[in-house]
Amino acid sequence: MLRDPFNREIQYLRLSVTDRCDFRCFYCLPRGFRDFETPDEWLTCDEIERLVSQFAALGIRHVRLTGGEPLVRRELAEIAGRIAALPGIDELSLSTNASRLRDFSDALYNAGVGRLNISLDSLDAETFREITGNELKPVLQGIDAACKSGFRPIKINMVVMRGINDHEVESMVDYCLKRNLTLRFIETMPVGDGGRKASRYYLPLDEIEARLGKHYRLQPAAMRGSGPARYFQVDDSGLVIGFITPRSQHFCETCNRVRLSVTGDLHLCLGQEDRLELRPMLRSDAGDEAIRQAIRQAIARKPERHNFNQAPAAIMRPMSALGG
Ligand code: SAM
Repeated sequence: MLRDPFNREIQYLRLSVTDRCDFRCFYCLPRGFRDFETPDEWLTCDEIERLVSQFAALGIRHVRLTGGEPLVRRELAEIAGRIAALPGIDELSLSTNASRLRDFSDALYNAGVGRLNISLDSLDAETFREITGNELKPVLQGIDAACKSGFRPIKINMVVMRGINDHEVESMVDYCLKRNLTLRFIETMPVGDGGRKASRYYLPLDEIEARLGKHYRLQPAAMRGSGPARYFQVDDSGLVIGFITPRSQHFCETCNRVRLSVTGDLHLCLGQEDRLELRPMLRSDAGDEAIRQAIRQAIARKPERHNFNQAPAAIMRPMSALGG
C-alpha cells in the first residue's frame, strides 16, 4: 500500500497517453501551442504496461486514461486492454472530449474501460466552437454511442465560466437528466497560460449550487469513484450532480492520486511541480524493485496541497500535459 506523509492512501493513477489534443479549449491548450512531446519521448505500450504493473504491485487499484485527448493516440484500445488485464487493477476509466468516441466506444468498452468522464462545456454549437475551436455534433454523437456501449457511470464535466457558459447550467441539467448521465461542474484552475487567462471568468460554484437549489431539491448523495466532487441528488430523479471546487474549497486532504505524463514523469500534485522522471529508469537496466523503490520515495515527497490561490503563476505546463 502507498501512503504519503499526510496519511493519504494513494490508489489512483491518472495516466496521460498523449499530450496532444484535437481541441483547443482556451482555458487549457492555447491556440498556436507547439511545445508537444515527440513520439520517441512517449512511453511505449510495453513501457506503460510494465510501469502500471509496478504501480499495481504497490497498491494502485484505479487507473484513468487521460491526455491531451486519449483518443488521438492510435494504440489507445491496446493500452486499455493491457492495463485492464493487469492483476490488482480493479477499475479502468477514461477522460475524453468524445469527439472521436462514436467510432471507438465499443472497442474501448470491450477492452475493459468501465467508466467514462466526458468534457462538455456547452450545448450551443456556437459557444462550443468559441470554447473548444471545434464542432459540437460529433461530441453529442459520441455521448450517444457511449450510452449504447454500456459504460456506467458516464459523467459529464462542465467547466463553468462566468459570462461564457454559466447561463447553460440548467439546460445541461436537463440534458443529463434525459440521458441518465451524472453531471459535474468544475471551477477554472490557473494551470498554464490558458488556465490563468481564464481566471477572469472564474465563478465560485457555490453560486451555481445556490441557483440550482432554488429550482430543485438537492440532497447530499454518495457516488462511486475516487473523485473529489461533492454530490447531490436532484429532486427524486436519478440525476446526480457534483461540484468540483479546487479554488473556492480545496479538497487536498482527500487526495488519493498521482499522475503520470506521456513521457513517464510521475507528478505528485496537479498544482505543484514536484515530479520523478521514470523513463530513464525504464530505458536503462533498472529492475522492477528499483522502480518500485523510486516510486515509494517519490510518494514520500507528495506535497500537502496545491497553491492555486496563493501562487496562481506556479504551473507553466498546460492542463493538457497531465489531463487534469
Ligand atoms: N481530453 C480529455 C477530456 O476532455 O476530458 C482529457 C484531458 S482534459 C485536460 C481533462 C479535463 O480538464 C477536462 O474536463 C477539461 O475541461 C479540464 N480542464 C482543462 N483545463 C482546465 C482549467 N484550466 N481549469 C479547469 N479545468 C480544466
